[in-house]
This record gives sequence, structure tokens and C-alpha cells, in this order.
Amino acid sequence: MDACDLLIVGGGPGGSACAWRAVSGRLDTVILDRSQFPRHKVCGGWITPAVLESLEIDPRHYGAGRTLQPITGFRTSCIDSREVEITYGKTVSYGIRRSEFDDYLLRRSGARLHLGASLTSLERSGDGWIVNGQIRARMVVGAGGHFCPVARFLGADARKEVAVVAQEAEFEMDARLRAACAIEGEVPELYFCRDMRGYAWCFRKDDYLNIGLGRLDAHGLPKHVADFVEFLKRTKKIGFDLPSPMQGHAYLLLRDIRGKIVDDGVLLAGDSAGVAYSQSGEGIRPAIESGLLAAETVLAANGNYSAARLAGYRAQLEARFGNPRGDLATELGRRVPVKLLGAISRQLLANRWFSRHVVIDKWFLHADQPALKVPAGVAADSQASAA
Ligand SMILES: Cc1cc2nc3c(=O)[nH]c(=O)nc-3n(C[C@H](O)[C@H](O)[C@H](O)COP(=O)(O)OP(=O)(O)OC[C@H]3O[C@@H](n4cnc5c(N)ncnc54)[C@H](O)[C@@H]3O)c2cc1C
Repeated sequence: MDACDLLIVGGGPGGSACAWRAVSGRLDTVILDRSQFPRHKVCGGWITPAVLESLEIDPRHYGAGRTLQPITGFRTSCIDSREVEITYGKTVSYGIRRSEFDDYLLRRSGARLHLGASLTSLERSGDGWIVNGQIRARMVVGAGGHFCPVARFLGADARKEVAVVAQEAEFEMDARLRAACAIEGEVPELYFCRDMRGYAWCFRKDDYLNIGLGRLDAHGLPKHVADFVEFLKRTKKIGFDLPSPMQGHAYLLLRDIRGKIVDDGVLLAGDSAGVAYSQSGEGIRPAIESGLLAAETVLAANGNYSAARLAGYRAQLEARFGNPRGDLATELGRRVPVKLLGAISRQLLANRWFSRHVVIDKWFLHADQPALKVPAGVAADSQASAA
């Protein structure tokens, strides 16, 4: 039987970030993922520089041989209404391809990899775990996304939770499609639904185009998506039918952070914990930051992995991401009659100040929140003080 200190279920950004920090703190770490990497992941592939900073990744290094589209502005609007262009004159975000990004983070983490292997069993044994009847682990982190089996083990039932639902298509454009695409790589476009219960996007990354739409309610999603694609064609944003079908996925937002994310010998991180930002649906940064905080918690516990010793993790997530609150759509929906909502959202999104300072700076860029930095040596210090 194989043995390790920490076994992480899920090698997405949350799991890889957790492993990267744990390995640097000298924990023997294994990542188990049911997919072989590189693997496709349904995602817009938009990240803020804070993501790279937290993981100490040099954009020049990452960008060599991989897609790293600098983003210097955004075009925002209510679907089929006046657009506002917001420019920053510097790189405020990047477009990446998840197949490349997740593979890079996984290999860079330094963890031992068990790929193409689903979690099939998780049994408590003494003060640790037996995973799949094959690996003995002192500590387990569940980072298996919205349907994470470790979250299920802790009692979560994804079918009963209210999640954001989204569909996207990402495809490579040949010369004909490139010529018929009006979207600029440096200025992606965001189009909000009139009821503010979701938004659509067009991200161009080098020769790749990513088009998608996410909503807080699953009701009518296919129609919203079909109408949006028609709108893109009618307004000549794209002059072609989508060459690949839309794929869908669901995940929880921070306001719905899962009830139980800590127990004896186990923590949840990333979508498994339900930490994606409520307003934008951005989940990569919170997945990475929660993964780093999970690793710090494990290192600081210094081998005593009781639920009581790990309990501070939840408070750390809440302190980092703020108290989970309702989103603007829910607040407006509660206070404003449906008929007025469309008119109000069109007005708000046609306003340059609101679009820049609230929509982009606050909801999307989290410009007021610096990258999470875990200073080198913190892990070692915390271990020493716990000893
Ligand atoms: C359409 C759409 C667009 C999005 N766009 C963006 C965006 O542009 N920017 C952004 O920041 N966020 C975006 N998100 C959210 C983002 O994709 C997620 O929040 C992020 O991937 C969460 O990372 P994670 O590591 O928690 O989980 P994941 O990335 O989902 O990784 C989980 C891993 O666990 C593995 N796994 C699952 N079950 C098992 C099992 N039983 N056994 C073993 N392994 C298992 C999976 O194979 C997977 O590799 C988008 C989401 C959707 C649906």
C-alpha cells in the first residue's frame, strides 16, 4: 500500500495550488484525479494577475509556448443595448486555455500524480484514511469541483443546491473565422442579461474564441444561450455559426459556501467548498486562494488533524473573501418589480462610471483586494510554533 501525508482529490487549480504549497512545506503529497491531463474544462479562461502572483508564476515564463492573452480593457453592456468601453492602458487580466493552464499548475505542484483514477472509496483508519483501498493518507483535501466526492462524503448534495449554471464553447478559428470575428483579444466583451441574473461573454485568446453565458437560474438557459448567439450574428460580432456545441456546467457561488467544509482529517477547497465570487462567477482565483489556505491550515496543524485543530480554515475563508452576501441581481430582484428591472439595468450599464468602478473594478477585477501571498517560511514557522 502507498502512503502519503496529504492526498488531494482533484487536480484543478484548487487542488494544484494546495499541493504546491504543501510540497513546499515538505508534506509528501499525492493528487488523485479521474482525468488524464491535459484535460478540457468548461470555463471562460479569464484570470486576474493576482492568480499568477499568488503562485509566483512569471507571466513571461508561462506565456512561452502557451496562450496568455493580455487584457487591457472590457466592453460592457446589457445584451442588445448601448456598449461602454473601459480601458486601462495596462494589462489588468489574462485569457488562458484551461487545458494548458491546469496541466501546467498540476505538473508544477511537485505532487505525486495518480491520474485517470476516480475516488472510489474513502475509509477512516486510525487517525488517517485509506483511499481507494490503496493509499494510506493522514489528511485528505477535497478539491474535486462542484460534484466533489469528498464534499458528498461530508454530506453535500449538489442536486439540492442552488448553483450558477453556465454554458460555453471554445474553438480555434481558422483564417475564415478570424476574418469574420469582430471581437478583440485585448478587449473582451461582457453582455448582461436584462434581469441581471446572469451575463454572457466573448473572449478572444490568440486564435481561440470562447463564447458563453452563465445564469443564477437554470430555467430557460438553452433559450438564453440560443438568443445570445443569434444576437452575436445579427450584430456582426461573429459572422459564422459556432463550429462546436456549447457545453454546460454548474457551480456554487461564495454566498452559498458549503455547510460542512472541515472535519477530522479532511478539508474542502475550491468549487468543492463553494467559494466562487458571487458577482462575476470567477472561480479560479478563489479556488487557488482557498487551496493555499487549506495547505497552510494543514501545515500549521503539524500532524494533529482533528476537526477542532482545522476549524480555523472556515474563518480564514470568510475573512479572505468577506462575509458571503447576496449579489446585486438578488437584491434588485427582491426590491424592484420585474418590469422596471430591465430599464434600470440598461441605465446602469450604459453609465460609464458604474460600468468601470462597480462592474469591472469591484465585481470582476477585485481591484481593492491584493493577491494572497503566503510569505515563504510561514509554513515552517507555524510548524515550529505548533511543535
Ligand atoms: C462556463 C463556465 C465558465 C467559467 N469561466 C470562468 C472564468 O473565466 N474565470 C474563472 O476564474 N472562473 C470561471 N469559471 C469557474 C471555474 O471554472 C471554477 O470555479 C474552477 O475551475 C474551480 O476550480 P477547482 O480546482 O475547484 O475545480 P475544477 O477545476 O472543477 O477541478 C476539479 C478536478 O477534480 C476532478 N474530479 C472530479 N471528480 C473526481 C473524482 N470522483 N475522483 C477524482 N477526481 C475527480 C476533475 O477531473 C477535475 O480535474 C467558469 C465556470 C463555468 C462553468
